[in-house]
Amino acid sequence: MLKYSSSTTAQDGTTLSPDQVIQQARQSFQHNQIYSIKQRIAEVKRVIEYIRLNRESITDELTQATGKTRTDALVSEILGVLDNLHWNCSNAKRIFAEKKVHTPITLLGKSSHIRHEPYGVILLIVPWNYPLHISLTFAIGAFLAGNSVIIKPSEHTPMPGLLERIFSTAPLLASCIHVIYGDGAIGQQLIDARPDKIFFTGSTVTGKKILRHASELVVPVDVELGGKDPMIVFEDVNLQRTVAGALWGAMTNAGQSCTSVELLYIQRSIFTPFITQFKQAMEQLVINTGDQGNADVGAITTNFQAEIIQEHLDDAKRKGATLFSVGQAISASSRLIPPTLITDVNEDMLIVQEETFGPVVCAIPFDSEDEIIRLVNQSPYGLSASVWSKDLKRAKRVSHALQTGAVSINNVMLTEGNPALPFGGVKESGFGRGKGEEGLLAFTRSKAIIIDKQ
Ligand code: NAD
Repeated sequence: MLKYSSSTTAQDGTTLSPDQVIQQARQSFQHNQIYSIKQRIAEVKRVIEYIRLNRESITDELTQATGKTRTDALVSEILGVLDNLHWNCSNAKRIFAEKKVHTPITLLGKSSHIRHEPYGVILLIVPWNYPLHISLTFAIGAFLAGNSVIIKPSEHTPMPGLLERIFSTAPLLASCIHVIYGDGAIGQQLIDARPDKIFFTGSTVTGKKILRHASELVVPVDVELGGKDPMIVFEDVNLQRTVAGALWGAMTNAGQSCTSVELLYIQRSIFTPFITQFKQAMEQLVINTGDQGNADVGAITTNFQAEIIQEHLDDAKRKGATLFSVGQAISASSRLIPPTLITDVNEDMLIVQEETFGPVVCAIPFDSEDEIIRLVNQSPYGLSASVWSKDLKRAKRVSHALQTGAVSINNVMLTEGNPALPFGGVKESGFGRGKGEEGLLAFTRSKAIIIDKQ
């Protein structure tokens, strides 16, 4: 396994250029082609076992590196990734198997096949909000498909040694997956070295830069970008259950999830009772960093992100919004931002237009089904959404009309919880699908083969 710092110096002191890093990954790809899918699955099962046995110490490392709560680290990162890896192990053989397809009468006597072949060297560029989950889910899927993988973690949550330790439990896997530390400049240099495919997860701004860069080099890219997820609440809901869902959707991981509920659209007839109950529920929240005892809402991982959230809150206040906060005032040292509900918002506010990525949510009344579909579809983002109503016909109708990659009905963020479902956005939230069958096939290119007789 190659391990480099931002200057691409290996731990043993040798210095390699990003070109050499890609070359070495290419050699490991050639060398490891002999291993079957069965052998690769056995390697992933070792990784699963390692994570299962070491989940407590990994949780500690995650809470220290990110400031997230133990619940967020354990549930969303560790259990989430284990779920995905198990599903991949059970389904990879079927998904990657060569498929025989129908041959039309015009080609009588011949047989037609589709092979799913690995790209070669896959470059993963990942963000800081789920440093374990995102890196592992993509890297293991790409490895199962037969690729070599280079992971470039975020410079804000490098967690040096953690991924290497996890991979070293499985020797073949360790020889195929390389971790390269560094900032965006190292990411750019790795792209310049022409990997065979790039999977980028991060902000829309960086995603657009990477798309331009990779298109110059004609390297394919899948991009999972930012979101501004709406939760749509119709007047016939069970209020208590829906308030609980909204609170969890807005506050989990301190709002630092691409699918966090950022816009809470509530039908006008229940707006006031909903807001009253939501505020009461907010007052029960325990706020703290994960390494100082458990809490419901943890810290913001970077100072930079805490500043963006504060800028959005200040802008909203200046433009006439009403803010309701619970918990301590902002403390620069712990980066704890008080959970905040914002009402009386308008479309000129940053907090309505841009991804905020914090424990804050805007509540906005709406009147009709047509109006809410129009409002949601105006957004440049389209990652996921939720629709809440006892009337399932209506909920399905609205979910079909929304321009998003996923919709949960009567719950939030449910689609991420099922490893069989694809995950990805539309519009400025990106394209390509991770997870599920589509997600695994994205690590392969299909080859058509037709066999005639001699
Ligand atoms: P970011 O875009 O700032 O950075 C992401 C990664 O890109 C980092 O590893 C960074 O070093 C690298 N990078 C930066 N500039 C680069 C360049 N020019 N070339 C190559 N690499 C470069 O994102 P972030 O702040 O780390 O993460 C938060 C964002 O990620 C949010 O917008 C969130 O919505 C998004 N996100 C999306 C998903 C999804 O699945 N859609 C999942 C998680 C996070």
